[in-house]
Amino acid sequence: MKRAYRCWAEVDFGALRENLAWIRERVGPGVKILTVVKADAYGHGLREIAGLLMQSGTDVFGVANLAEAEAISRVGRGWPVLMLGTCLPEEVQLAVKLGVMPAISGLREAEEFSRAAVGLGQRVLAHIKVDTGLGRLGVSVEEAEQLVLEVRKLAGLELAGIFTHYASVESDVSVSARQKGDFETLLQRLRKRGVIFPMVHVNNSAAVLCEPQSEYTMVRPGLLVYGIVPPGGRILMEPGRVRVRPALSFYCRVGFVKEIKPGARLSYGGSFEAKTDMRVATLTAGYADGYPRAASNRGEVLVGGKRARIVGRITMDQMLVDVTQVPGVSPGDSAVLIGRDGGEEITASDVAGWSDTIPWEILTGITYRVPRIYRGGQAA
Ligand SMILES: *Cc1c(COP(=O)(O)O)cnc(C)c1O
Repeated sequence: MKRAYRCWAEVDFGALRENLAWIRERVGPGVKILTVVKADAYGHGLREIAGLLMQSGTDVFGVANLAEAEAISRVGRGWPVLMLGTCLPEEVQLAVKLGVMPAISGLREAEEFSRAAVGLGQRVLAHIKVDTGLGRLGVSVEEAEQLVLEVRKLAGLELAGIFTHYASVESDVSVSARQKGDFETLLQRLRKRGVIFPMVHVNNSAAVLCEPQSEYTMVRPGLLVYGIVPPGGRILMEPGRVRVRPALSFYCRVGFVKEIKPGARLSYGGSFEAKTDMRVATLTAGYADGYPRAASNRGEVLVGGKRARIVGRITMDQMLVDVTQVPGVSPGDSAVLIGRDGGEEITASDVAGWSDTIPWEILTGITYRVPRIYRGGQAA
C-alpha cells in the first residue's frame, strides 16, 4: 500500500548537480568549492546531499557542528570538512579525532588544538578566521598577523586556510569593499612574511554572484547550491544569467473543502472575514511542518496549478486557502507550498517575503515531520 503523506518535500538531485556545475563554471577550474551543508544541508537532508555532492565533485564541506561533520564522515571517510563555527572546549578532542578543520579565532583556541593534536599524534589543518566586520567570530584585522605568526609556531598545527565572511555583500558595496580591502591588506602583509595559505576564501552565495574579485582560491556557497538566489539589491545580474534552480519542493494535501457565506470568520482569532460567497480548502500543513505562521492572510499556495491565497491564521497542523477561483478542488488533491505547478511557481523567497524573513530560515525551518523524497538518481 502506498504510504499517504500529508506533507512532504521532494529534492531534485538533478537540480543540485546542475547548480554545482554552474557555480564551478562561474568561478573557473582553479577555484575550489566548499559547499555549505550546515542545518541538515539547508533542510534538504545532510546524508543524501553529502553523498550527491561528493559524487558531483565538491572539494570541501562546511558545517556548523561536529554531529554534521560525523554524518559526512559516515557517508565518505576523509572528505575535507571545515567547521565554520567555533569548537567548544570539550569538543576539541573529538574534532581532532574526526580530522575536522577548525576555524581559529584566537590563540587560546589554537593552543587547545595544538595540545590535542600532539596528544593524539595527529595533524590539525587550521583555518584562521578573520573578523573584517561581521563581528561574530574571528580575530580582528589588527591582531590577525600576530595570531598567524604565533599559530605557525604551534606543534601539530598546519595553517591550511584563512577566511573572512561578508556582513551585507548582497546589498552594500562600500562595507563589502572595506571588508575585502582589509582582508587583502592582511594577506599582503602575511605574504611578505612568507606565510602562504593553500585555502583563502571569502565568497558566500551572494558574493559568488556580485564579488568575482574576492574569489581567491576557494568559495563557500550555501543557498546557491540549493538553487536559490539570495535576495538583495546588488544581485543585479539579469536573472536569466544565474542558471540555478531550486532543488526542493514542498507539498501538502487538500483535506477538506467547504462553501462559506459572507460574514463567516476563519481560523483562530477570526482575523479573516468572508465578504462574498467563497469556497475554502483546508490543507494538511501548518507551522509545525515549518510553514511560517507569519504568512497568515498573506501567503499563497498552488492548487490545481492556480494560486490560492491563505485565509485566516495558519495553525499548527492545518491552514485554509481560498479556492473560489479554482474549479474542481477535492480532498486528496496535492497543494504546492514551494515549487511549480503548471506555469506557476512559488519560491522559498516568496514564502520568506510573505513572512518577513529570509529564504534560509524557510528552508531550514521545514521540520522533522516532513519526509524528504529524492528524485533524479542515486546519491551514493
Ligand atoms: C552559512 C555560511 C556560508 C554560506 O552562506 P550562503 O549565503 O548560504 O551562501 C558561507 N560562509 C560562512 C562562514 C557561513 O556561516
